[in-house]
Amino acid sequence: MQAAIALQQSGAYMRTMTSIRPWRDITRRQSRQIMVGAVPVGGDAPITVQTMTNTLTSDAVATIDQIRRCEEAGADLIRVSCPDEESTKALSQITRAARIPVIADIHFHYKRALEAADAGAACLRINPGNIGSSERVAEVVRAAKANGCSIRIGVNAGSLEKDLLEKYGEPCPDALVESALDHIKLLQDHDFHEYKVAVKASDTFLAVAAYMQLAEQVDCPLHLGITEAGGLIGGTVKSAIGIGNLLWAGIGDTIRVSLSAEPEEEVRVGFEILKSLGLRTRGVRVVSCPSCARQGFDVIRTVEALESRLSHIKTPLSLSVLGCVVNGPGEARETDIGITGGGNGKHMVYLSGVTDHHVQSADMLDHIVSLVEAKAAELEAAETASHAEAAE
Ligand code: SF4
Repeated sequence: MQAAIALQQSGAYMRTMTSIRPWRDITRRQSRQIMVGAVPVGGDAPITVQTMTNTLTSDAVATIDQIRRCEEAGADLIRVSCPDEESTKALSQITRAARIPVIADIHFHYKRALEAADAGAACLRINPGNIGSSERVAEVVRAAKANGCSIRIGVNAGSLEKDLLEKYGEPCPDALVESALDHIKLLQDHDFHEYKVAVKASDTFLAVAAYMQLAEQVDCPLHLGITEAGGLIGGTVKSAIGIGNLLWAGIGDTIRVSLSAEPEEEVRVGFEILKSLGLRTRGVRVVSCPSCARQGFDVIRTVEALESRLSHIKTPLSLSVLGCVVNGPGEARETDIGITGGGNGKHMVYLSGVTDHHVQSADMLDHIVSLVEAKAAELEAAETASHAEAAE
């Protein structure tokens, strides 16, 4: 945290959100902006959420289907592994079909990078130090420049270079940062600057310390991740702590939550982290209580059903679902739509924080869904109108 504070004081950070509640402000590290296809990463661009397909890339149809689901969940960028020639052959069909930029994940075979760049990848995830000679790096850089690709350097504590492991004895922040700087230098030596960097580790302490250290030494955008974080619940908690701490300190321009779960879940968790920090909004932000003996309806089942039935809403709005009047009215005052449990199966509905009408238990679910859908449509119409006005 010291590093972040020092940078904030030196003016290398910028304020992205101003509010009348300064305790909510996050001052973002000012990185140099690059483009991943049409999506800006870094600078004052919104923090992007990415995930990675787990279908066989050579199966273009299955991969495109999965990308569609990730797009629906809100992914801004999608990474696709290219371990062999069959994969890069399928990649051009995939990049043409994808509505979001595709990042080709390459490990050691520089030829896959050349093929992926030609196949329409917007970014290559490749570590230039791993592909052999300087001529190969030059070839990859040439292909990236010719095709307008950016590059993502991905240092991982689990695959640190042997010489660094010998030098430091074990993966540590200094080793991860040195590895990143070595890879960066190779790109800079070839006059290539459209890159972003990750220094991931499955150990949250190690990853956070490495990112903090790297943030002081480079001006490129940083891709955040706690790698191999675990399953849906454990991995979400670990990622929220690691990625959340860095974002809160102003560090990070794009994130990937690595879970042993479907890629769409990674996207949802990524957005929830950003939403919790007020860095981005998307869809319905649900405020709900854990429920107790005072609940006027089954809060847990209601929230489960609402989250599923409202997952198609992309417009940011808030919904409070509280089981009784202990905290219900207070939370409802702060949300667009609120429901507070009452007695005899009769519950109070709040609109824009104000008590509006009652609803019976039997009708409650359908009623809230239709209220939220109507509110989303109203907000979307207002936004379309304001865009049209601005264009005139
Ligand atoms: S809001 Fe009411 S029902 Fe929900 S946890 Fe609090 S006291 Fe219990």
